[in-house]
Amino acid sequence: MPRRKATSPDPVPPNPSDYPCTFDPDLGVSERYQSLIQWLDEYGLETKVAKQLWIASGYLMPGKSTISIQGLHNNYTNHRPKYYKAKGVPVPVVDRLRKPGERRILGARDVKNPVSNEDIELFWANRRAEHVIAWYFRDENSMPNSDSNPPLLSKSAAYEHSRALRSILENDPNEHAIVVPKEVSRKTLGRFIQCISPELRAFPPTHDLETKTKLSDKVITAPIQWTHKALSELYHLSRNLGADDVCDMLTDYCWAQLKAGDFVTDATLFNKLAEDNDWPALNFWLDVMIACDTLDLKKQFKKRIWNESMKTALHSRLSEQGSRSALWCDEQSRFCEEYHHHAPEEGELCYIEKVSRQKEDFYDRAAMAKLADKLRLSDFIRNMQTKLMIARWTADKQGEVDAKEKLQKAEEILRKAAKIEQRKAALRQGGTSISRISTAVCSENAPSSSLGTNTPVMEVR
Ligand SMILES: [Zn+2]
Repeated sequence: MPRRKATSPDPVPPNPSDYPCTFDPDLGVSERYQSLIQWLDEYGLETKVAKQLWIASGYLMPGKSTISIQGLHNNYTNHRPKYYKAKGVPVPVVDRLRKPGERRILGARDVKNPVSNEDIELFWANRRAEHVIAWYFRDENSMPNSDSNPPLLSKSAAYEHSRALRSILENDPNEHAIVVPKEVSRKTLGRFIQCISPELRAFPPTHDLETKTKLSDKVITAPIQWTHKALSELYHLSRNLGADDVCDMLTDYCWAQLKAGDFVTDATLFNKLAEDNDWPALNFWLDVMIACDTLDLKKQFKKRIWNESMKTALHSRLSEQGSRSALWCDEQSRFCEEYHHHAPEEGELCYIEKVSRQKEDFYDRAAMAKLADKLRLSDFIRNMQTKLMIARWTADKQGEVDAKEKLQKAEEILRKAAKIEQRKAALRQGGTSISRISTAVCSENAPSSSLGTNTPVMEVR
């Protein structure tokens, strides 16, 4: 049976028996949440599909006829840490780029896993962007150094996700070299680039990715240890560059780590947030401190070196307690309102929503990549992309024209093949109802038999 296109509205609602979940009563997490976590983490389903499964499984609260996507997402983030802690495995960083419906095995080996192919592809997509900004660090005399392999950031991603870079580019669209803000390390900058380019990430990156030289086509990877210091540095850089979505993503990541019980904070972060008047993040940390343990807080208040802004903020937050904290609130919009930087009341989207919209594009691109593999065009395309990138950097005009022409030809072949695949898939779709019935009949013996391995139906854009 063909797998239907992941992003188009499904004419047949998903069937819970197609996504069997295990329930372990010893975990202390109710069955509905265990299923939800498995649908999202192990099958990689989109939240809107999980919502249909949630309703079909009879998990709605008595008297309710539906559940909001945000409410569901909140259930997921609230129960995930406990679930994995009870299982004795680390909370996985979800590979949101995995194909939907493909179950993966969770366990300690995930932590040791090398970087995902998708992250490598994204790394190259950023470097191969037609227009890039090169970042230069300062030498000991505060002068920009001459780095032969500066970190690169796609201009379109910079424009879209960073207010500071957008205003630089609006001022001069040809700007292509920027000096890195003081005290920002190469690693932190690289992580920031991964967070926004070529698209927003839903979780911090898992590996540092670099190339040895500017023209090298090999990527060097190193797993990232997300310490408090590393997260703070990335947070402050994102804040300085006006990348609110990254700030909010980091806040959510910290909250997930805190709930899992393995996270420490320090006063430097709080002082800086208070000095910056970064109220969403400051309120988040104040609420966390207040919720943790009041007595300990008093001790810390005496011991820690908190600046005046921080003390004032803490006093005023304490006086508001009970009315403001949204830490354990079921509504994502309340969490956004208190701790995120976007303005939902002005229609500004949360990064969670932005990432889920990107995901739809990704499945189309993934389908095209799969088709390129099938036609044995992948290596050719990759080589031409590298040639094109090098030609641009070396100002080799003829090389650029040649590579572009060859790429266009390959894309033309792909587009034609996609149309044929689309027609074939439409024909197969005609038989869907019959195979669905037979799947339902044998679902007890082979519950996942409907998860075919055929090429997904694709859409040509
Ligand atoms: Zn939000």
